[in-house]
Amino acid sequence: MTDQRVNTNLRRDICEIAQDLQAYVQYLKRLGYKGVPLSEASEEILQRKDKGSEAGALEMIRQDLGDCRRCGLHKGRKHIVFGAGNPRARLVLVGEGPGYEEDLQGLPFVGQAGQLLTKILQAIHLSREDVYIANIIKCHPPGNRNPEADEIAACLPFLQRQIRAIRPGLICALGTFAAQTLLQTHTSISRLRGHFHTYEDIPVLPTYHPAFLLRNPAKKRDVWEDMQKLQRAYEQG
Ligand code: URA
Repeated sequence: MTDQRVNTNLRRDICEIAQDLQAYVQYLKRLGYKGVPLSEASEEILQRKDKGSEAGALEMIRQDLGDCRRCGLHKGRKHIVFGAGNPRARLVLVGEGPGYEEDLQGLPFVGQAGQLLTKILQAIHLSREDVYIANIIKCHPPGNRNPEADEIAACLPFLQRQIRAIRPGLICALGTFAAQTLLQTHTSISRLRGHFHTYEDIPVLPTYHPAFLLRNPAKKRDVWEDMQKLQRAYEQG
């Protein structure tokens, strides 16, 4: 292995450990521990919010994903849809998986449902540049079928790392599939929506998927209520 490769691997390992430690230290602080036994230098490294550290971590995750062939979905995809938006977002939105348009463009939520999502965000005074948007799976399933267990198992660890890298204050799960997968439950979206749950200590608000709203406009009222809750939490955070 070349020296450069060894250094890259080492940097990646250290970043991974630092991210885990940072999450743990924040968790202890939330529990009320004041004296976390770390040197000032380590505290500084773990606390550092220098511009670009989240972007760098995301870039590394993207590199690890590479030209992914970990499941069969790679055979039919045009592009991997990694995720897009602000690496330092305080709100991460998670959808199910790329549709036809997203597959063509390599970007999340750019089709009809995506346009509706942009409007929903605007209604709570957020732009797509303020938030980070990703999906449970990163490749378009043929015929828009639901992702299968092995596909989720191969893909989810990357989303989990993205969320850990961004460390948002809030997550909004869009639709049944995102909500049930993140929250590890079979409870229906109609019962999950409108209430805050948690994923790795991060508050998660599930709501209906924008594609479902396009088919069921009567549910817009529920989503509007959910978005007002989300906005209040966002503004308090
Ligand atoms: N539906 C999703 O769940 N994700 C996308 O990126 C697009 C449509």
